[in-house]
Amino acid sequence: MLNPPLFLNLGGSVAICTASLFDFKVCNRYMSKASQSRPSSLTRKHTGKAKKYVFAFGSKTDGNASMRELLGGKGANLAEMASIGLPVPPGFTISTAVCTYYYDHEKRYPTALKKDIVTALKQVETQLGKKFGARQNPLLVSVRSGARDSMPGMMDTILNLGLNDKTVEGLAEASGNPRFAWDCYRRFIQMYGNVVMGVRANSEEEEDPFHELLEKLKKSLTITSDTELTTEHLKDLVRQYKALIVRLTRGAFPQDVMQQLWGALGAVLESWKNERAIIYRQQYGIPSEWGTAVNVQAMVFGNAGDQSATGVAFTRDPANGEKVFYGEYLMNAQGEDVVAGVRTPHDISDMKNSMPKSYRDLINVRNKLERHFRDMQDFEFTIENGRLFILQTRNGKRTGLAAVRIAVEMQREHLISQKIALLKIPAESIDSLLVPVFDPKALKSATIIGYGLPAGPGAATGRIAFTAATAETETRKGNKVVLCRTETSPDDLKGMLHSQGILTSRGGVSSHAALVARQLGKVCVCGAGEINISYEKRTLTAGKVVLREGEYISIDGSTGAIYKGAIESADSEVKRVLERGLKPTSSLTYGLFQTVMKWADKYRSLKIRTNADTPEMARQAVAFGAEGIGLCRTEHMFFDGDRIDYMRQMILAVDEVQRRAALKKLLPFQRKDFIGLFKGMNGRPVTIRLLDPPLHEFLPHDDVVRRQLAEKLGVPFDFVIDRIKSLHEENPMLGCRGCRLGILYPEITEMQTRAIFEAAAQVVKGKKRIQVNPEIMIPLVGFKEELIDQLRIVHRVAREVMKAKKVRINYIVGTMIEVPRAAITADEIAKEADFFSFGTNDLTQTTLGLSRDDMGLFYDEYQRKEIYNQNPFASLDQTGVGKLINLAVEKGRTAKPELKLGICGEHAGDPSSIDFCHRVGLNYVSCSPPRVPVARLAAAQAKLRNS
Ligand code: PEP
Ligand code: MG
Repeated sequence: MLNPPLFLNLGGSVAICTASLFDFKVCNRYMSKASQSRPSSLTRKHTGKAKKYVFAFGSKTDGNASMRELLGGKGANLAEMASIGLPVPPGFTISTAVCTYYYDHEKRYPTALKKDIVTALKQVETQLGKKFGARQNPLLVSVRSGARDSMPGMMDTILNLGLNDKTVEGLAEASGNPRFAWDCYRRFIQMYGNVVMGVRANSEEEEDPFHELLEKLKKSLTITSDTELTTEHLKDLVRQYKALIVRLTRGAFPQDVMQQLWGALGAVLESWKNERAIIYRQQYGIPSEWGTAVNVQAMVFGNAGDQSATGVAFTRDPANGEKVFYGEYLMNAQGEDVVAGVRTPHDISDMKNSMPKSYRDLINVRNKLERHFRDMQDFEFTIENGRLFILQTRNGKRTGLAAVRIAVEMQREHLISQKIALLKIPAESIDSLLVPVFDPKALKSATIIGYGLPAGPGAATGRIAFTAATAETETRKGNKVVLCRTETSPDDLKGMLHSQGILTSRGGVSSHAALVARQLGKVCVCGAGEINISYEKRTLTAGKVVLREGEYISIDGSTGAIYKGAIESADSEVKRVLERGLKPTSSLTYGLFQTVMKWADKYRSLKIRTNADTPEMARQAVAFGAEGIGLCRTEHMFFDGDRIDYMRQMILAVDEVQRRAALKKLLPFQRKDFIGLFKGMNGRPVTIRLLDPPLHEFLPHDDVVRRQLAEKLGVPFDFVIDRIKSLHEENPMLGCRGCRLGILYPEITEMQTRAIFEAAAQVVKGKKRIQVNPEIMIPLVGFKEELIDQLRIVHRVAREVMKAKKVRINYIVGTMIEVPRAAITADEIAKEADFFSFGTNDLTQTTLGLSRDDMGLFYDEYQRKEIYNQNPFASLDQTGVGKLINLAVEKGRTAKPELKLGICGEHAGDPSSIDFCHRVGLNYVSCSPPRVPVARLAAAQAKLRNS
């Protein structure tokens, strides 16, 4: 097919969908205000100097490639191509400033615009010897959107503008081809009627009304192809189309070409705010204030006869990055033929035979474009009677793998430097080299049953398990499972560990499920609101599809897609080299990965640590290049085997004696875990956070387990119930958690500190004499007094253990900054702390007054209204939360210049947040193990971008 695949980079990896440059299906309401160019006092008067809104390209060119901000990517590149002598049909770009003005001024235009457009049109007319709206040799134009960053297929386009009942005759005479002229006219009315006047299908079930008329006519003539329609048929169709517009809009299709132009301009500007564009902007963090430029360009005709064609080509393969010419074309056609899908395009290599000269011309253009733009280009071309024209070029969208391969190979070809190569790879792309992927062939026949948020990249297939227990039993039987829950709690951790992937119907990208899944490197799709999970009936329902426990389901954590049934998938080659001894030299992908990582490490200054709670996670993170542990959430160590019982015994204890007895049983487990971590990290720093979560998270929720617990502890069932009730908190996230636990129950801090130092002593004195550098971290501090209270205990117990074990351990004690008060009083707190680690999950919660698990109800609406540019739990709210971090860094370092600073919230794995961390001068970021490679690349990019 000709419409270029659109590579959407969703949450770390890449999905391919078939939105098109020629995608006119979704359009906007009729722009009645479009031609009301009311005078405005702004622009000329206030600035004193005329503001330039219109930039020409052609024999006289005003812009160049560096002016993307003003001209949009398409406009800037058209200008650049015109200046380097590529065959670009002349035209002009209406700058993004007009779009911004339009939305800032109740959809009016700057006063100067009208005159500037008329002047620019005249220049195009002079260059081509044609006239806009004239019967003789009429000029026709296309009107296309073009944002700063390309948003393929998201906004509207109109072709063949300038045709009316008079000019169509002129075109017929000028081309000597009346059929062609009437074909253009009926296409234009259809497109204009649809995009500008709103004549279109109102739902997916409805047919496009223009298409309906066309099909009816073909049926009555018993023909199947549009090309069989004669001039008379097309004239008839034009009559029918015009009547349809009158019937559905009570207005007539405009014959005035200037009115057509203003209508099209308004519709393209309106499409900046259509639903697709908004969703796309959210996905890629494109600010709504950027606006789109509008390109008006003389039409050339790929449908002028059998020496004419239109197509799209990529200078390299956008799917795998290979250096091959890649593309498709259609003979005697215009772009929208592709959308109609009536004809199958040819592979570009077929042109060698069908149009050899044009093929040679195209190859020359391909080489020139790559040499000039120094990036893989995706360009549109039209061949009109054997003459090649380039209609646009842009950096081609590509898969993660292709992004890496193209950058590395272009560096090897001396087209770009190492630094530029690094900057050209979207950091998220690295992820797609690491995650298991679905077999593309198997995907073709798979059935999608819904979508959720892509929260943990990769592909997972397995039997549905609705409970952690089922997940465990099934896995033990040798079955692969996908854990499907409405939402998960720490109770589900074990089930999550046993699952290939996790699917939840509630919760956002930093919900418990997402957070833990990412940490464990599990595939995760969360918040899939269209899916209904009934634990009672043991069913998962998506629309009409009902799946039962034990049936197969597949999820793609890179795109959020949920599929019915099993789909083949495989581990990435990089993982097979790093973890399972695949020979590095036998994997091209691994070679690319290693090259990029080596370059990244050469340039970055931020250290990269990981959030890991088990030796296995630590080992994986080190293999990916982690330089230490930045957060070990000790609570995750309390769930396995008997530990949870002792933990619950500790929580239900009525006095210190009982609590100490339970803690004594937990101590050996903690010690053993820390030994594993210290050994695994082999001298690298390990930050251990003392117990943080509200205690209710450890308690059983259903009565069966509560009864079992009562039996195990030898206490009455009622006692358990009463204790649980007495521990109830309305808002546990803001209740007895964090350092408040250690202050209330100092024996918990004592036990954890003892476990850390006893483990450290054992490792340091062990056979291998491994160095240990524990960094003990106190959570949720808001007052320096809280920190001082806990420090006293930590230092006392550390001294006791070191004395008893006759060993000296290098350790430091610091705190998390995760409530606004801690940031505001960072100078006071810094005096007591050796380091700060920004817990941006909680800092975002507490700054925005927003629970990370409860944003599902309103989040969609906030996205639609673009209130949040991006999910604040996925990408740091730099203007809000960021200010607090800035303040804490400044105050902290003023009080203690040597203060070590890091971040361990989820944002530490997000490239734009990493850029922020670099700019504010943190020492390290700590992310989940699978994000370590992304963070290494993002840290290098931050350094290169900001130096
Ligand atoms: C944080 O708040 O950013 C953090 C890392 O802690 P947690 O997510 O465990 O609350
Ligand atoms: Mg926290």
